[in-house]
Amino acid sequence: MTNIRTRFAPSPTGFMHVGGIRTALFAWLLARQSNGRFVLRLEDTDKNREVEGSGEHIIQCLDLLGLNRDEGVDVGGEYSPYLQSERLDIYREWAQKLINTGRAYADPYTTQEVQKFREQAQAEKRPFLYRNHRPESAEQVTTWDGSTPLRFKSEPKEYNWHDEVMGDLHSGPEVIDDFILIKSDGYPTYNFAHIVDDYLMKISHVIRGQEFLSSMPNYLNLYEALSIEHPAFATMPHIMNEQGNKKLGKRDGAKDLLDYAREGFLPETLLSFIATLGWNDGTEQEVFTRDELIEKFSLDRVQHSGARFDEKRLLWMNGQFIRQLSADDLWDRVADFWPDTANTADHEFKQRVLSLAQDRLKTLCDLPTLTSYFFAEPEPNWQMISDNKQLGKLDHARHIELLGLAKTVLETTDFSADALQESLNNLLEQTGEKPGTLFSLIRFAITWAPFSPALPETMEVLGREHTLQRLQKAIDS
Ligand code: GLU
Repeated sequence: MTNIRTRFAPSPTGFMHVGGIRTALFAWLLARQSNGRFVLRLEDTDKNREVEGSGEHIIQCLDLLGLNRDEGVDVGGEYSPYLQSERLDIYREWAQKLINTGRAYADPYTTQEVQKFREQAQAEKRPFLYRNHRPESAEQVTTWDGSTPLRFKSEPKEYNWHDEVMGDLHSGPEVIDDFILIKSDGYPTYNFAHIVDDYLMKISHVIRGQEFLSSMPNYLNLYEALSIEHPAFATMPHIMNEQGNKKLGKRDGAKDLLDYAREGFLPETLLSFIATLGWNDGTEQEVFTRDELIEKFSLDRVQHSGARFDEKRLLWMNGQFIRQLSADDLWDRVADFWPDTANTADHEFKQRVLSLAQDRLKTLCDLPTLTSYFFAEPEPNWQMISDNKQLGKLDHARHIELLGLAKTVLETTDFSADALQESLNNLLEQTGEKPGTLFSLIRFAITWAPFSPALPETMEVLGREHTLQRLQKAIDS
């Protein structure tokens, strides 16, 4: 078996979308499960698109998910440099090989001239191909002074190739064209640079997004022209919006990976969720730990069709992971998520509140909504009650009556969750109300929050004095 060497080769454009980090994750998993090497190469050859600080941002994203590098821009390695802008000499050398073998030529045309060719083709209803406009001199190019782009001289032909995900693929000669190898600014194109680098860095598997699939025939043509073997290819399916009808975009709420973390999604959730965007292990299992992923991941179980990004599933999964955290671990993770009013609260009290909230947290950002009433007096908001489906059916006098009864019963109840539960059950019988009505009413009156942990436990932590005071305040308001 070949040594597995995979790479993540992002362009520093400042935004890490889930599709990008999924590519990184799959490449990393493949390397980890086979004792291979995972390489981080930065493809910074398009200076117009470059955003400052992107390199650090990419590294932060990889670190967040624990995708450690064996080689790359940040850790160095045998095939340094891993930053494409520091490899310009290498690309020129390889371009020279193509010039020497008559497989590259200086592109003599201005953008306006190319535009004219394009329009002409359009008017004649035929596809525009650069190779139909090769200058006479393309036959004898031996020198290229770098002031014009260097273009690949392609050899149109059919291709059959295998993609580890998409299966056996075929293309005809009509899609092969002359593409730019090196631009007039001296930087190589992605199309050229990645092929040279993947070869020199001994990459065994190229894992990348579907947007590159249509260029594959041209890449195969270039591998041949350079007389080098190509690596294995694995094309990832698109990530679609929730409805599954178009590619996930910022308009559908797609966020940068770090934003998900800021919003209180755990790294382990993101890892599991992203891994299951288009991959499953063949069972019903939906939540995977890092070790399980390393053990079970395989390219042949990546689906061909688009993967739906279902935010509800992400929230659900995060809740699952939050529930599994130990009290100490959860404590550390929520450090930045407490409501401001909790700053001066007693440590032990906060721990009790947190353990109560743990089961209800879908993201760590839910913490203030779920807990702020433990730290500050909430203001009565009767709108919440009238908007409630069940409670809205009762009139205000009945609300007040029920709260009064609750207060009377609770005045003589021991404030332990069990005793409180028993009293609340008795109150149900006494009033003839349903739990969904009575308990919601009491819950609103003591928290004035849209959701909260279980009622008896909430009252227990809040304590007798506060609970009774709040009931009274609600009655009086
Ligand atoms: N630099 C390319 C991008 O960011 C990488 C594609 C690849 O993995 O080959 O889209």
